[in-house]
Parts: sequence; C-alpha cells; structure tokens
Amino acid sequence: MAGAAGDSLGLYISIPFCRSKCTYCNFASGVYPASEHARYVNRLIDDLSGAGKWAARMGVELPRSVDSIYLGGGTPSLLEPELLERLFAAIRAQCALETDAEITVECAPGQISDATLDAMTRVGVNRVSLGVQSFIDREAQVSGRLHTRAVVLHDLQRLRAAGISNLNIDLIAGLAGQTLASWNESLGVLLDAGAPHASVYILEVDEDSRLGREMLAGGARYHAEAVPTDDAIARMYETAIDTLECAGLAQYEISNFARRGKQSRHNRRYWERRPYLGLGLDASSALRAVQQAGESGPGYLLRSTTSDDLKAYLEGSEPAETAWLSPERQHEEAWFLGLRLNAGVKLAAVRKEFGRQPVAHALEAAQDLAERGLVHVDSRTVRLTPQGQLLSNEVFQEFLGAANEEPEPVVAI
Ligand code: SF4
Repeated sequence: MAGAAGDSLGLYISIPFCRSKCTYCNFASGVYPASEHARYVNRLIDDLSGAGKWAARMGVELPRSVDSIYLGGGTPSLLEPELLERLFAAIRAQCALETDAEITVECAPGQISDATLDAMTRVGVNRVSLGVQSFIDREAQVSGRLHTRAVVLHDLQRLRAAGISNLNIDLIAGLAGQTLASWNESLGVLLDAGAPHASVYILEVDEDSRLGREMLAGGARYHAEAVPTDDAIARMYETAIDTLECAGLAQYEISNFARRGKQSRHNRRYWERRPYLGLGLDASSALRAVQQAGESGPGYLLRSTTSDDLKAYLEGSEPAETAWLSPERQHEEAWFLGLRLNAGVKLAAVRKEFGRQPVAHALEAAQDLAERGLVHVDSRTVRLTPQGQLLSNEVFQEFLGAANEEPEPVVAI
C-alpha cells in the first residue's frame, strides 16, 4: 500500500437505509423499518469497539489516528439525530480524530430534517454529498428520486446556513429521458448552485439494479427504452468534463471534479491505496499487514468486505470476504487505481515500491495502450487520455496480469 508507516486511517461507515429504492440503484441498500436503525447503530458501535481486536487477530495495522470519515449508503441523513450522536460519540471514544478531519455525510435532497442537520453540525460534519443525479424534475422522478430541483436548491441554502459549505453534488449521465440539452441544463444549474465539488457517474447497467435487469432483458419497464444510447452518454460525459473544467471544477479522477483545495480527502485514499476501515453493510476495508522487524517492501495487504445481507450483518456475521493481496497483486492495483486519477501513475513511486522489473512489464502494456490512444506515457508518468477514461474498464483489464508477467525467456540458438 502506498501509505507510509504511521499513516492515518479513513473510516467508511455504511448506512443502508433509504426512503425508496431508485430504479438504477445497485447498492446494498433498502427500505427498512425505522426500528432497525437503532439495532444497526448498536452493531456498528460493537464493530468499532471490536475493531482493534479483530485487526490484531488478522495481523493488520489499524492506525488510531483518523483523518477522514465518510458516512455513505444508503441515505445516512435518515438516521435519527440521537443515533448519529451516539455513533459519533463512539467514534471519538475509539479513534483519535484529527482536528481538521474531513467528515462527510451523504444526504438525499428533501430528506434532511432540521433536527438531523443540527445533529450533523454538533457532531462535526463538515462536508455533505448530495445525491441529486439530475436537476430535471422529470428525470429525477422516473429514476425513483423523491426530490425536485427546488428542493435541492433549498437544501443547499440550509446546509450553508448551518455552516456546511464543502458540498458535493452527484449527477448521473444516462438516466431515462435524458438528452444532451437536458444534461447541459443540469450542469448549468449545478454550476449556478456553486458547489465546489461534483461527481459525474455513468449509468451502470447490471443485474444488481431493477433498471439494469430490465435493460439486459430488453424490457420497457422503469422507462428502460428511454435510456440514452452509449454514444449519447459518452458525449454527456465529455461535455461534463469540458463544462466543469471551464467553470473552475477541474477533473481530478474519472468521475470527480473539484475547485482547488476541495478534492475529497476520503475518496482519494481509495485511489492512493492508503488504509481505510469499512464498517456496516457491504463495507470494504484495506489494511496493511503488520511487518516484522527487518522486513521491507510493500508486504501483504488485507482486503475485506462485510456481508451485504442486513439480517446476517445484524446477527453478527464476520466479514463475508477477506483476501490477502501479495505485492504482485498490489502492483496491479497500483496501476488500475492510480490511473483513475488525472495525475496518473508516477513511475518513480511505483519503481520504488515494487521494483524496476515489474514496472517494466507494466510499461509494455502501457505502451500498447498508448498506441491505441488510451493512455499517455512520458518519462515520469502514465495517465489515461480522455478516450481512455471513457474506456477505463478495458484499460484496467490490460494491467491485470501484465503488471507481473515474467518476460519471455530468451532462447539462444
Ligand atoms: S438513495 Fe442512493 S442508495 Fe438509496 S436507493 Fe437511491 S441510489 Fe440507492
């Protein structure tokens, strides 16, 4: 992992409760009775207090110093104020929260009560990510969102009045009924709203969402027939990059844009391979193995993911999946996570961490991708081109295995 010894920790806490299920949603979230909220927070607090013992048992480092907390979901703003306060009291008791820690809560527009907003400010939340997806009311409505443009703009005012001005707005390119004109309108409203950070996602079509399943089956429910074509979605994404960049929100990652100083500290951890602990439903962790005296190099990395079944989670299941990543697998990750960032992969850094030979193999794959116009390679850095960002999954696939292949044996005749 790139994080140096003595690195701080990022804490991700999944709150899987939603008021309704969006048609495109492929997250482990659902509409559960409010009576489950307290049980769930109790379980989170138990996990938090048991995290040190779990880490010792697994043989991984768990930094006590925490510099970012991210409550995602789900709709964490649905948590009752007293549960939010109990959760943060437990975090502060168990962790050494840095004074300038970034504390983000994902909120659904129209679903932040005054009491919850007060509790958020009391517990130290200083960043809010709003799941807007579209400022066109009809597009939001057919996607299962419960808000209108007016509600979003009102919430932004309320958040600022409460002292939370570090705001992110999520948009999705590819919603049913979206056109390039309506997309431009959403981008314009986003910019007028003045949020310093935007995330632009491309609609994912897979078996995990109702809309995705319908599209894969060729059906018409959930307005599947009105989803724009891949080419139209690609144009929307390219337009977003240009429009946001011109307005001062520079792209720093495939889906993320920010004004200077407003990049998401927590999310950068994932791409920079720094340690994080995930708690709650379907939450991932990445923690470095404790190194023995005299050991050098990247060592092993533990990735674990908790159950995505609420009943199993509440009953106390252990992480559903755990895997130790060898230095070779981490080298692959260094490429496909690092390439997500516009800054790209710094060759000196990966050579220092993994050695010259493995990096030379990865560079062969990079050269091949450069000939296809998907990456840009220079003497210091490899980064995605705009075309490579659109086809990023294809690019990342090339690095699986290639980063560690043994060179062809030289046969002397
Ligand atoms: S609010 Fe978010 S997590 Fe909840 S259903 Fe909609 S997309 Fe999924």
